[in-house]
Amino acid sequence: MKNFAMIGVLVLVMIGLFVARNVLIRSASDEPGGARPARKRVMLITVGTGGMSGVYYKVGGAIQQVLNARKGAYGLNVSYQASRGSVYNINAVLSGDIDVGVCQADRQFQAYQGEGEWQATGARKELRSICSLYPEAVTLVASDKSGIRTVSDLKGKRVNLGAPGSGDRGNALAVLKALGIDPEKDLHGEGIKAVESAKLLQDGRLDAFFYTVGHPAAAIIEATAGRRPVRIVPITGVDQMLASSPYYAKTTIAMKLYPKAANQEDVPTFGMLTTLVVSEKASEDMVYSLTKALFENLDEFRSCNPAFANLKAENMARDGLSAPIHSGALRYYREAGLLQQ
Ligand code: GLU
Repeated sequence: MKNFAMIGVLVLVMIGLFVARNVLIRSASDEPGGARPARKRVMLITVGTGGMSGVYYKVGGAIQQVLNARKGAYGLNVSYQASRGSVYNINAVLSGDIDVGVCQADRQFQAYQGEGEWQATGARKELRSICSLYPEAVTLVASDKSGIRTVSDLKGKRVNLGAPGSGDRGNALAVLKALGIDPEKDLHGEGIKAVESAKLLQDGRLDAFFYTVGHPAAAIIEATAGRRPVRIVPITGVDQMLASSPYYAKTTIAMKLYPKAANQEDVPTFGMLTTLVVSEKASEDMVYSLTKALFENLDEFRSCNPAFANLKAENMARDGLSAPIHSGALRYYREAGLLQQ
């Protein structure tokens, strides 16, 4: 009797395994468009993004969504990881730790030219660009109670300037320098990850924080939605710095995106584009497929986050790219008529 029961269980398990295997095979070839894709070797790639409360992390999610649903067509399987941000991503792409990095256009320029954080290492001429994405704004968030209404009011306050490896930190330091504020002597500067800033501001352990980010950003929704009233502070008086840098542009932060903030009029500041970078050594086929997948499915990518809603293919293939465009991306841009070279 016992033996019969055992055989019965065994048969059931085998039937179960057979069905599961068939379902898996079917779902692997169930791709949008319905057509059975040509078999293609799938390459695993990693994308370095930013903190989980920023927009870079959403870029990673959107790239994964678009590509992994179409592995058969483009041959790429994407995984993405949280990271410290622009500076970390550029260095990680160059050292081969990740395949693709999200970074600010100003950091891309500086790395390629050997400026800013790359002064010590020298120009990283092996950096390559793929495309630009949406604009980011240098954003100063302060508790209402701190009385901070301009950048000069930061004197004597506890301010998160951004963690090492982020793109934010360089922007905060540049703004302070342009306005004659010494971050060592004139204020209590912190180097905390952006993901922690909102809570620290709400807890009263920070008076303000800088964050270079696209809008709306989860970190700023969180910072402005707490018990303590929080405002976004204008960054002005830096015209000379903007004029001497090809990648900066004046912009405003639309406060309708943060309805719980203490100030509701749009806030003037400056910003730059977000870009995607790789190393010169990245495989031409990989970069070609990634670029093609993004551009051929731009509608879906746009719909992944409000910050991506206005992306335009012509601008993405042209603006904010100070490192040479990678040969794989160039191949796609020529094929698609996006570049005439
Ligand atoms: N701009 C920031 C940085 O480079 C990241 C912003 C984000 O994660 O959206 O570190």
